[in-house]
Amino acid sequence: MCSIIAYKGSNKAAPVIVNALKKMEYRGYDSVGIATLSNNKILLKKGVGKVEEVNNSLNLVDLNGKIGIGHTRWATHGGITDSNAHPHKACNNIAIVHNGKIENYNELKDMLSKNHIFNSQTDSEVIAHLLEDNLKEKGLKEAVIDTCKALKGGYAFVAMFDDVIVGARRDEPLILGIAKDEYYLSSDVLGFIEYTDQAIFLDNNEIVIIDDKLSIYNIDGNEVKKNITQIAWEFADVDKGNYAHYTLKEIHEQEHTITKVFNNSYALEEFASIINNAKRLLLVASGSSYNAALLAKMIFNRLAINCEAIIASECQYYKELFDNSVLLAISQSGETRDVLRAVDYAKESNAKILSIVNAKTSSLARASDISLSINCGPEIGVAATKSFTAQLALFYKIANAISDEFILNNINIDDAVREILSIQLDDIIDAIKDVNDIYILGRGLHYPIALEGALKIKELAYIHAEGMPAGEFRHGPLALVDDKTVVIMINPNDETFNDTYSNIKEIKARRGKVIGISNIESEEYDWQIKIPSINKILYPLIEVIPLQLLAYNLALKREYNPDYPRNLAKSVTVD
Ligand code: GLU
Repeated sequence: MCSIIAYKGSNKAAPVIVNALKKMEYRGYDSVGIATLSNNKILLKKGVGKVEEVNNSLNLVDLNGKIGIGHTRWATHGGITDSNAHPHKACNNIAIVHNGKIENYNELKDMLSKNHIFNSQTDSEVIAHLLEDNLKEKGLKEAVIDTCKALKGGYAFVAMFDDVIVGARRDEPLILGIAKDEYYLSSDVLGFIEYTDQAIFLDNNEIVIIDDKLSIYNIDGNEVKKNITQIAWEFADVDKGNYAHYTLKEIHEQEHTITKVFNNSYALEEFASIINNAKRLLLVASGSSYNAALLAKMIFNRLAINCEAIIASECQYYKELFDNSVLLAISQSGETRDVLRAVDYAKESNAKILSIVNAKTSSLARASDISLSINCGPEIGVAATKSFTAQLALFYKIANAISDEFILNNINIDDAVREILSIQLDDIIDAIKDVNDIYILGRGLHYPIALEGALKIKELAYIHAEGMPAGEFRHGPLALVDDKTVVIMINPNDETFNDTYSNIKEIKARRGKVIGISNIESEEYDWQIKIPSINKILYPLIEVIPLQLLAYNLALKREYNPDYPRNLAKSVTVD
């Protein structure tokens, strides 16, 4: 988590760094800081808040120097304070920024404290002091390598000193951008795509040294030759356009992103045949991607595929399942730590690794035997929206490739999505904006959507929301229902309709308030969100959109910024 950016080139570094941090702020926004090197002196400014706020109060862009590093933090060790903000300085002229967790920082700090003064509670600061010690005794390359070897845990870090930038990574992303006479080191291509589309993806345990030239080494000190990748320019398209927030823009983009997946001519034969021949398929994901995986499991089970959906952070308790299985890992960013851990288990068991990502050049995509991209462009809003529906669309396509029995007709859903995007939710928002709890119920394929809707409401509006299978409600939670209870029922006219309808009656009998998401009108609903009638199997794609809009608008009504939910970051890249 967090974003790192370093720049060395012929322009003033600070404005480039501040601009990059703004683009990558979705990765963490507890605090911000930048350091530059000018006349061989480190200049440093940092503080708590978002990039814009800290820049307004400290004028970060003002720092002189053509070499610099910057960071937005998602705190793991030490409170959200100015002194814990990165960059961290060693005792002399070295500054570092770090992404990840140093597991043995206490040990290292005890050792280093004899000769070094620490100014923060972070784990990260040990990197600066350790590197400083190593540089006193060793050559540059050896000093960096020995520093890396002493660190336990995951890291991407960049250090700056003596007109030199060094970077290193293990289990956290670090990407090198190369332009004419300019280098960038960044957590995401978004940090530099505006300036160059030429990138080198560093692999685990590699280090990069940028002095008067560029060198990349592995942890044994051997120079490695890396390929330059050309990044798709569509990644540069990260403006909000006319929308108030990225989240709203991305919700609206679903008008095109879903169809784009349906119309894409993916080469699915081998992917489908690996699934068909698997003894067991393990779908592993976190957050919204897990909810998508749950829906995929239901669809694949209908095709007699033996398949489990496992929450990625729970994988370690299911390790035995990886033998004789195929892993299908799902992650928008392709950098989710828990998901990458599942890839390690699959590798230990020699299992085939399939993946679905948005970022084609991500660690997950590169570690997979076959990786498919949902291709929906950068998703900046921290809450997943367009990536979720694009994942669902791709699962439908895969099901179609697995079996002729899964027929996908009538998939032109653009009109339905457009219609949903224009619905008015003001009455509902006014009525429920101050409730403490919301329940979302649905059966079958609608259950994962209930989970996803509840997740959006928690993330964006900070209201406790719970999704559950509608039939399960009467086995306990019904006890909570009174005239203040709000229940959202997902109930379009498919095979779940009648059973869900009887759950609605049970809730109404206890004076609960019901919001119905359905194409069938009913007097039981206190409010109805009317969805258009489409191919029944595809309802999940359109019924989730009003839930996204509801969560977004509830956030606005409650005066929260939907793009930057508190305590969260876009992808969780730490254990
Ligand atoms: N562990 C470090 C800290 O708490 C870095 C966290 C991050 O990746 O933002 O400062």
